[in-house]
Amino acid sequence: MTKPVGATARVIPIKAAEPALVSLYEKQKKIYPRSVHGWFARWRWVMVWLTQIVFYGLPWLPWNGRQAVLFDLSARRFYIFDLVLYPQDFIYLTGILILSAYALFFFTAVGGRLWCGYACPQTVYTEIFLWIERRIEGERGARMKLDAGPWSWQKFGRKTAKHAVWLTIGLWTGFTFVGYFTPIQTMWQQAFTLGFGPWEWFWVNFYGLATYGNAGFLREQVCKYMCPYARFQSAMFDRDTMIVSYDAARGDPRGTRGRNTDLAAANLGHCIDCELCVQVCPVGIDIRNGLQYECIACTACIDACDGVMDKMKYPRGLIRYATQNGLDRKWSSQQMMRRVFRPRVLIYGSVLIAISAAFVVSLSLRHTLKVDVVRDRTTLARLVDNGRIENLYRLQLMNATEQTQRYRVSVEGIAGAALANTTEVEVAPAQARWVTVAVQVPPESAQAAGAGAHPIRFHIASLTDARTAVSEKSTFVVPR
Ligand code: SF4
Ligand code: SF4
Repeated sequence: MTKPVGATARVIPIKAAEPALVSLYEKQKKIYPRSVHGWFARWRWVMVWLTQIVFYGLPWLPWNGRQAVLFDLSARRFYIFDLVLYPQDFIYLTGILILSAYALFFFTAVGGRLWCGYACPQTVYTEIFLWIERRIEGERGARMKLDAGPWSWQKFGRKTAKHAVWLTIGLWTGFTFVGYFTPIQTMWQQAFTLGFGPWEWFWVNFYGLATYGNAGFLREQVCKYMCPYARFQSAMFDRDTMIVSYDAARGDPRGTRGRNTDLAAANLGHCIDCELCVQVCPVGIDIRNGLQYECIACTACIDACDGVMDKMKYPRGLIRYATQNGLDRKWSSQQMMRRVFRPRVLIYGSVLIAISAAFVVSLSLRHTLKVDVVRDRTTLARLVDNGRIENLYRLQLMNATEQTQRYRVSVEGIAGAALANTTEVEVAPAQARWVTVAVQVPPESAQAAGAGAHPIRFHIASLTDARTAVSEKSTFVVPR
């Protein structure tokens, strides 16, 4: 291209763009939930007391001269009040897990995250730790000021006291947790001599520090990022599930106003935009933005908003338990409650009742004697006196009662088969005992049966309880 005559060329320097570092990491903002009082808060505390009395108290409860609830892994015995379960009873644990899962489906379909709001250990311990924090550092404003301010002896003292109490509770929780697996009375005595075994040390500290870290520091982040339930709970919700909701039709347009403001004239709804519902929220969300997966249904915002409504002399329930259909169609509470009995809930409920019934029946019909028969493979079959053929077996008899039991052992399956040694065995309460028994078959029966393995059956019956009898299959080998 030719340059026009008389034109002067201007050179504009082009600067290379400075490389900028863009961080994809957003620092977590600390949440300072404001304390709240009200009907739901009282229920939350009732649940805190109930769950903690059960959790901390149960391992100390004596029952039949032992700990009422003890999962003794080393002895492979689970004691739950009168029940003594062996690893062979694993089916009951499976049953409990299935029941828990269905109970979770059922209650979530009816009332959303009831478990999270009222009974989940993460929520319960966070509530306890927050209460301690408030007692030591003060209300929301005071805590924010303390954290923002420079270090002083007063700040150091408060922080140290708070962490010391948190750690004590955490370690006591760890101790209690391990007390479900190791007799807690023994552990208590060992605690004074520091005589714990390595596993006890590890688990007391691990569980204790996990409680301290989760309830003291991670708090809502556990619910938001670590808990799988938060991710899949929406699959159990539908538009008729009762969830904590803000009634936008009633609350909007929001805005500040005096108590006697004419709402119609000022074009205002019932929400005075005080943000108290946000300040009490332990996960730091604004429920007015609609259903959010972070909401753990703690209902703190309901109590906070009801308090505001009372002061403003508006009806309560701007934030309340409601269904999405109910809010959209302006249903009354009764109309929403009627939708509780919908197919999804009825199916979950029926399955839950059926599984519970099957569980209770199977538990009540459960045998208190368990038998394992193992053929002694080192001595397959041998010829003994009078030409009889003998096979050896090892029988494990597990007494799942709290009394000593005497059992009679007999055998059938081949004509003339009989036990050559032991026929009666005594087993101590909640113990298992191995016995070796010799089964002998007369020569004519062995000849009639022919060489090879033949099915036989052991019968073991309690001499103390006529209802307890078990029979187990095995084989008898006739050599060539
Ligand atoms: S507490 Fe109630 S009135 Fe206050 S901002 Fe929240 S919804 Fe609005
Ligand atoms: S939005 Fe309300 S119910 Fe949900 S977590 Fe926050 S305070 Fe609790």
